[in-house]
Amino acid sequence: MSARDFFHSLSSIGPVQIGTGRDRQGRPRHVAVCTAEGCGWSSDYASRAAATLAARTHRCRIA
Ligand SMILES: [Zn+2]
Repeated sequence: MSARDFFHSLSSIGPVQIGTGRDRQGRPRHVAVCTAEGCGWSSDYASRAAATLAARTHRCRIA
């Protein structure tokens, strides 16, 4: 399953995209994914604020 299939309401902060989806239990999750080629960083959070903060503070080793 690709990130694009999982996400909706995508937004971007620098190279990091934030989307929302649901986990296997149907709970909403906020996912931050770095799109920089070769980085591969991603993480998910219980709140959009947390995901946004993580995106802002992500120190990309590529970009
Ligand atoms: Zn990165």
